[in-house]
Amino acid sequence: MANAVDPDCLFCKIVAGKLPSDHAYEDDEILAFKDIHPQAPFHWLVIPKVHVATLNDFDPEHAGLIGRLLLAAKQLAADHGLPGYRVAMNVNREGGQVVFHAHLHVLGGRPLKGALG
Ligand code: AMP
Ligand code: ZN
Repeated sequence: MANAVDPDCLFCKIVAGKLPSDHAYEDDEILAFKDIHPQAPFHWLVIPKVHVATLNDFDPEHAGLIGRLLLAAKQLAADHGLPGYRVAMNVNREGGQVVFHAHLHVLGGRPLKGALG
């Protein structure tokens, strides 16, 4: 279920400016910032400002937002001159999700191979 803000959510605190982050991209519904523990030379997160816990919690009414999150990832990669990159979303603990505010990982800056390499 999507609520506007979850006061206990780490990424909602970043959206609210209560935690520092290195913002690269922001509009009225999306924020992108550097991952604090980068898995590649380029590792940013793209998040909706609205609190949605996981991909499973998006509704059909979020279809436009989901598209704009992907377009923001594309823009971020273009702005940083990445010739290729990966966009990934972990879903639930079993899928590697640790922060339960849905986010896209945008990874690049090194050769990436296969699904996980
Ligand atoms: P996930 O495992 O998909 O939930 O990814 C959560 C990501 O959030 C991890 O890659 C963390 O390194 C990153 N992360 C956690 N706290 C912060 C923070 N305060 N600022 C930026 N990235 C963070
Ligand atoms: Zn949140």
